[in-house]
Amino acid sequence: MEEIFSCKCCGHCCHGESTVSMTPDEQEAIAAFLGMEKQELLERYCVRKRGRIEMKVVEGHCIFYGEDGLCTIHEVKPFQCRRWPLHPGILGDESAWRAIKADCPGFSEDAEYEDVCELVRERADIGC
Ligand code: SF4
Ligand code: SF4
Repeated sequence: MEEIFSCKCCGHCCHGESTVSMTPDEQEAIAAFLGMEKQELLERYCVRKRGRIEMKVVEGHCIFYGEDGLCTIHEVKPFQCRRWPLHPGILGDESAWRAIKADCPGFSEDAEYEDVCELVRERADIGC
């Protein structure tokens, strides 16, 4: 896998005007990790957008993005964060992968589209 993708921990994917949505189970897990009730998590760290619960954006990045450039809830971060940038939207859409690759320095310059698709399928199979 490292030949195709290796995260450089640049933090780019934690920046922007929105974050990812969280399932109720993920909200419970993050709240437990932070030692608080889910309601407190929702009030302090989350926002409702388009009917989904997302993490707040503060100063241009996810509220859980740490000063050291790492995720402060890494152990329990949402599935969408854990699988990024190996998103299933890449499958069957090479332009989607090229758009992601342009923003993510973790992909090898030599990475081939078909190899990336295989990696996405493998990751989907093991559910992480
Ligand atoms: S943009 Fe890519 S290399 Fe940078 S932190 Fe996100 S996944 Fe890792
Ligand atoms: S939860 Fe962590 S990995 Fe996900 S966007 Fe926020 S800081 Fe980044």
